[in-house]
Amino acid sequence: MSAAVDAWEAVIGLEVHVQLRTASKMFSGAATAYGAEANCQANVVDVALPGVLPVVNAEAINKAIRFGLAVGGDISADSVFDRKNYFYPDLPKGYQLSQFAQPIVAGGLVHARRADGSLLQVQLTRAHLEEDAGKSIHDAFAGATGVDYNRAGTPLLEVVTEPVLHSAADAVAYLKALHTLVRWLGICDGNMQEGSFRCDANVSVRPRGSDQLGVRSEVKNVNSFRFVEKAISYEIERHIRLCERGEQPVQETRLYDAARDQTRSMRSKEYAEDYRYFPDPDLPPLRLSEAEIAAQREQLPELPQQRYRRYLEELGLSDYDADLLSTERALSDYYEQVAAAAGDAKLAANWVLGEFSAALNSAQLNVEDSPLDSARLGGLLAKLASKEINGKIAKKVFEAMWRSADSAAEAIDRLGLKKIDDSAALAAMVDQLIAQHPEQWAQLQQGQDKLLQFFIGQAMRATRGQADAGVLQGMIRDRLGQ
Ligand code: ADP
Ligand code: MG
Repeated sequence: MSAAVDAWEAVIGLEVHVQLRTASKMFSGAATAYGAEANCQANVVDVALPGVLPVVNAEAINKAIRFGLAVGGDISADSVFDRKNYFYPDLPKGYQLSQFAQPIVAGGLVHARRADGSLLQVQLTRAHLEEDAGKSIHDAFAGATGVDYNRAGTPLLEVVTEPVLHSAADAVAYLKALHTLVRWLGICDGNMQEGSFRCDANVSVRPRGSDQLGVRSEVKNVNSFRFVEKAISYEIERHIRLCERGEQPVQETRLYDAARDQTRSMRSKEYAEDYRYFPDPDLPPLRLSEAEIAAQREQLPELPQQRYRRYLEELGLSDYDADLLSTERALSDYYEQVAAAAGDAKLAANWVLGEFSAALNSAQLNVEDSPLDSARLGGLLAKLASKEINGKIAKKVFEAMWRSADSAAEAIDRLGLKKIDDSAALAAMVDQLIAQHPEQWAQLQQGQDKLLQFFIGQAMRATRGQADAGVLQGMIRDRLGQ
């Protein structure tokens, strides 16, 4: 099939529903916390009792603005909430409030990296605010379906790409970058199992070289990176197989069945006109002033791709380290503080990704819950950078600091690991070692230089690593008359 595959180009556009991290819902004051007892977090607005009015959640707006600014999109001074009308039991109002004609964010670019390190820039069409629907529960009652309206009205930012992706791997690289970004901005918890970040994948194929779009299918609500990759791969192959047979794929909505690793048709695709969109008469247009937008701009942190570049270009970190340290905001911020306190960015990177991450892992802790704060770790690394202690001692001190509130200096004192810089004491020890190992000393005098390491090793052992290897070497060479 590979010759046939080469003749076709896959075209993919993704729609991601990013659940915004707000305490209350998009248009009501009900709580959004996940996992509550069914229908305990749905109020009169969420279940559409007559005569109640929606009120826009300002925090959701601010988070959408921050997203738009972070991707370099245009923030609309005027955007409008429309009613998207359809009938479904999990939608008590009979319509979903969504931004159709005038979204809050237009355009924008997401910077992603492929597994091979190359850059992938993905053009966004738009990002718009909308509310989530409730959930149908099919397995709780025999012969009946239950509905849980807790999720109804939860704020979502739907982020839509242009049809510019051409492989399942690129689609996943984009999704991971978007996932990193929304968590970095603190606008979404990113929890995919709980549905806080869900993806619809639109897939079509066309003869390679063509600039027309083929008929697409849309795979709905895939909630893991691995399944997105599999679902898209499956769809690409299915489309190619149809086209090879001279058949036209149909525009439809499909479901991915992970157990069978295949997609199946759910319903034929509805078109925008089926929804009878119109501006919600209960909500005024959303008008944003320059000052409101500027206030959000001021809150933007340095972005992951900016940090990544800075780590590579200014700090000289490896691609691998720069990538790892610019993915999770908490770890990255921790690293920033350690590096500043240590005065050595590369050393700090090695320790944050090495010793520190390993310790977090084995204690099964998040960075935020680390018992060792960044200032203390930075203090330890400053001593290592200035060669006040060596790497071996630093590891012992690290362990002691992990288990206590000691500063580096206190831990070094407490463990009796202070560096021996009393050269009279070291000189006496060197003389003693020479007396204890006359054969080795003779060989060293005859020019067997590797025995230098033997003496330094003995001295290090005798001082539990606290002697300065450079000073020792100088003393031994002195006695050799070198
Ligand atoms: P909807 O699916 O809600 O009707 P759109 O028509 O705006 O909305 O398209 C949604 C997504 O589908 C976008 O990400 C877009 O890039 C993508 N898309 C549209 N046409 C195609 C196509 N022929 N092949 C692949 N993706 C497509
Ligand atoms: Mg769609």
